[in-house]
Amino acid sequence: MTASDVRDVHDPGRLDEVVAKVAVGTAADVDHAVRAGHAAFPGWRDTPATERVRLLLAAAEVVAGSGEELAPQLVREHGGVLWEAQTDFGLGTGVLQHTASLVEEFLRPVQFDDEQSFISVEKVPRGVAAAIVPWNMPVVLTMMKLAPALATGNTVVLKPSPFAPAALTLLLQRVAELLPPGVLNVVHGEGDVGAALCTHPLVRKVGFTGGTATAQKVVEATAPTITNVTLELGGNDPAIVLDDADIDATLDRMLKGVYTRTGQICFAVKRIYVPRAMYTRFTDAFCERVDQYAVGHGLDPEASFGPLNNEAQYKKVLDLLDRTRNSSATLVELGRKLDPSSWDNGYYVLPHVVRNVEHTAPVSCEEQFGPVIPLIAYDTEDQVLTWANDSDYGLGSSVWTSDPDRGLAFARRVEAGSTFINTHSFESLDLRMPFGGIKQSGIGREFGEAGLSAYAEEHSIRRLK
Ligand code: NAD
Repeated sequence: MTASDVRDVHDPGRLDEVVAKVAVGTAADVDHAVRAGHAAFPGWRDTPATERVRLLLAAAEVVAGSGEELAPQLVREHGGVLWEAQTDFGLGTGVLQHTASLVEEFLRPVQFDDEQSFISVEKVPRGVAAAIVPWNMPVVLTMMKLAPALATGNTVVLKPSPFAPAALTLLLQRVAELLPPGVLNVVHGEGDVGAALCTHPLVRKVGFTGGTATAQKVVEATAPTITNVTLELGGNDPAIVLDDADIDATLDRMLKGVYTRTGQICFAVKRIYVPRAMYTRFTDAFCERVDQYAVGHGLDPEASFGPLNNEAQYKKVLDLLDRTRNSSATLVELGRKLDPSSWDNGYYVLPHVVRNVEHTAPVSCEEQFGPVIPLIAYDTEDQVLTWANDSDYGLGSSVWTSDPDRGLAFARRVEAGSTFINTHSFESLDLRMPFGGIKQSGIGREFGEAGLSAYAEEHSIRRLK
C-alpha cells in the first residue's frame, strides 16, 4: 500500500523527541483496504466458528506476550505511565479471551419445528466492519471492536488515532499474521480517513470510540447508506457520596478513578457530589492525598501520572483552569513536579481540585479529560440525584455508601450506562457487564453478548410445511 505523506509522532512528555513516523492515508488507501476486507469476507465468514475461536485465542496470546515490549512505546506516544499502558494490553487480552468463550453459543441458531413450519433464526456477520479508535487506551478499545467483529465472521479495517498509532500497529501486524490475508487491515490518518471509511459503500458496520462532536460527523456520514453504528463517546461521570460513606475507604478507591491516565478516561470520575455536612472533612482528606502525587514522564517509575496527550487537549484543560480560577470557586493546585526543568517540554499539568464549586459551573458540566476535579456540596438525596442526571452525558457513575441496599436503590435511579457502587475505576469493569452510554455518551454496548450482537445480523428463515 502506498503512503503519500508521513507524520512525526512526538512524545507528549518530551516534545522534542520523535517516537514514530506514521503514514498518513488517503481515501484511495481506505478504498484499497475496504476492498481487501470485502474480498476476504466470504472465506472468513465460512470459516468454522471453532477455527475463528482458535485464532482469537492465539491473538490473545500475542497481545499478552507483546505488552512488556510494546507498553514502553505506547507510553511514549500517549503519555500514560507504564502500568497504565500494561493494563491496556491486559484488558485487551481479556476481551479477546472472553469473546472467544462466548461466540460459539452466541452463534447457535434458535430453531422451532412444529406442525406448520420449521423456523431457524441465525446470526450472520455484516461484512466489512470499520473500527475507529482514540488514543487514550488504544489496545483494549481496539480489541472491543476487533474481537466481536472477527469472532462473528466480519472482516475489519481499523483506523488508529494519529496520536497513538505505532505500538498499536506493531501489535496488529502480529495479530494479522495469524489471520488469512485481508481479514484485518489498518489505515492511518486523520478525520478525512475516518470519514472516508464511514462513507464507503462496502462498509456495513462502524464501531467508533471517540468524542461526541466527532460522533455527530460519523452519524451524518453513515446516514446515506444507513450503516449500522456503535458509538462509545465521552462522559461526565458523577460520583455521589452518601452521608453514611466512610471517607477513608471511599478515597482509597475513588482516587483511582479520578487521576488515572491523567483523567483522560471516558468513564473517569469527572464530578464528585458530597453531603454539605461532611464537605470540609471530605475535601480536606481528598486534597491531602492528592498532594502526595508526583507528575512526570510516564517512564519515570515515580510518576503518579503523566502529561496530557496532545496540544489541543492541553490548551482545553488550561483554558478550563483559567475560567475556574476567575470564577467564585476555589481552585487548588496540588502535587509536585518530578522534573521541573523538563516541565515545559511536555503537556504536563499538576493535579487540581476545585472546592466550593457550583453544579452549574463549566468545570462541573464539561468533560474536562484532564487532572482537575470539582467537588460539589449538596443538601438532599433528591437534589443530588437531579444534579447527577442533569447532563447531556450518561456513561458511568458511582454511589458511595456503607449500606448496600441503599446503594442499590440509589444506583437504580441514576441515568447512565453503568452505575458502580463503592468503586469507579478500571477495577469496576467486569466483562459480563455491557459497557456503553446513554444520551450523548453513545449508542449500543460493548463486551459480552451485547458486543457480539453489534457485529451480527439476525437472519430469520421459515419453511412452511
Ligand atoms: P476524537 O473524536 O477526536 O477521535 C477519535 C477517532 O476518530 C480518531 O481516530 C480520529 O482520528 C477519528 N476521527 C476524527 N474525525 C473523524 C471523522 N470526521 N470521521 C471519522 N473519524 C474521525 O477523540 P479523541 O480525542 O481521540 O478521544 C477522546 C474522546 O474519546 C473523549 O471524549 C473520550 O471521552 C472519548 N472516549 C470514549 C470512550 C468510550 O468507550 N465511551 C473511550 C475512550 C475515549
